[in-house]
Amino acid sequence: MKVLVVNAGSSSMKYQLFDMSNEQMIAKGNCERIGGDGLGKIGHKTADGREYTAELPMPTHSEAFDALVFALLKSDAKVLDDLSEIKAVGHRIVQGGSIFKESCLVNDKVIKDIESLIPLAPLHNAAHVLGIKACIKALGDKVPQVVVFDTSFHSTMPPKAYIFGVPYEYYEKYAVRRYGFHGTSHRYVSDRVAELEGKDKKDMKIVTCHLGNGSSITAVKNGKVIDTSMGLTPLDGIIMGTRSGTLDPSVVTFIAEKEGLSASEMSDLLNKKSGVLGISGVSNDNRDVTDAAAEGNERAQLSLDILHYQIAKYIGGYAAAMNGLDAIVFTGGIGENNYITRELVCDYLEFLGVKIDKPFNEAHNKIKGNDYKISTPDSKIAVYAISTNEELVIARDTVSLVNKK
Ligand code: ADP
Repeated sequence: MKVLVVNAGSSSMKYQLFDMSNEQMIAKGNCERIGGDGLGKIGHKTADGREYTAELPMPTHSEAFDALVFALLKSDAKVLDDLSEIKAVGHRIVQGGSIFKESCLVNDKVIKDIESLIPLAPLHNAAHVLGIKACIKALGDKVPQVVVFDTSFHSTMPPKAYIFGVPYEYYEKYAVRRYGFHGTSHRYVSDRVAELEGKDKKDMKIVTCHLGNGSSITAVKNGKVIDTSMGLTPLDGIIMGTRSGTLDPSVVTFIAEKEGLSASEMSDLLNKKSGVLGISGVSNDNRDVTDAAAEGNERAQLSLDILHYQIAKYIGGYAAAMNGLDAIVFTGGIGENNYITRELVCDYLEFLGVKIDKPFNEAHNKIKGNDYKISTPDSKIAVYAISTNEELVIARDTVSLVNKK
């Protein structure tokens, strides 16, 4: 069965086509600058190395979808003879709120429910709905579509983990609570570490660290999320490329008053100008900041010290929350590639019995797409670097729901 996975953002639309008979990706691509003043751009690549790029008008997601269909079907890098080969489509949806506790097939009510959650994720959910509608327009309403939510893996959290210390009425009135994000990635790597350890995840206590441009850390106990670092929005938790992460809430009101900034200007500052970029003044990109730190830039080094310290504090905190810890997973662009981050975080955790094989950890830094255990045989806690694959999880959920139909 061929399954298309779509991740529609406000100005971009990423996609991957899978052959689910062997779970191999056949082609992938990205439409950018949708709705911009000039032309949009599609970049498309096949698994056998062919490429197609084009600049086309993309005033809406619908034209972007047409470009995607052209790339798959008619371009020099075509991979399909007929559109009907696509048997189902899976969509990534950021915010499922308290409505969606698992993936589901799309129908009119599901679209309305996703729309009803737009206030909780204005940019993302609105774009996802545009993506779904463009997909229905291009493929027709006979092709089943499935939605997979970033939040749903976290829906098992108990209230003590998701209620914030503000008047309860805001939870009741506006659904203000911790939702958590990157759930599809945390689900994939927690399943994978159990598989690699040869254990049943129902018997494991795992902390998964998804460290990318956005980062989140999750405690998975007996296969269920009991806590996660991102909150109402992806701003909470550890410092990220440009996001502040958790801070004293007074910092927000204090800076707003001093600088005369509005709520939306503060939101901009905390989401786009803070975190590693804000502290280092160098870049939001971990590679640039690591290079600057190596050249002696003290603020770059400080931003990395803060990052490692905060990751370690979350892991320690979640070990307490779960009353034990069997495995730690590093994933995401930084977690998969930056051996220094993994090493320095693990240094903080020696007291828990964490021991890693440092030369092996460093040597395997460059092997992309490989999952590997970096802890030593006598480490009390297994530590892994695992390449996440959110698209594959979406494709798997899509197949399983379509087969149940
Ligand atoms: P996103 O959160 O947008 O999906 P990624 O998971 O791709 O992003 O992570 C992006 C981050 O990963 C960037 O900060 C980038 O610098 C970092 N990264 C990617 N490759 C490496 C590497 N080889 N060494 C260190 N950091 C890396």
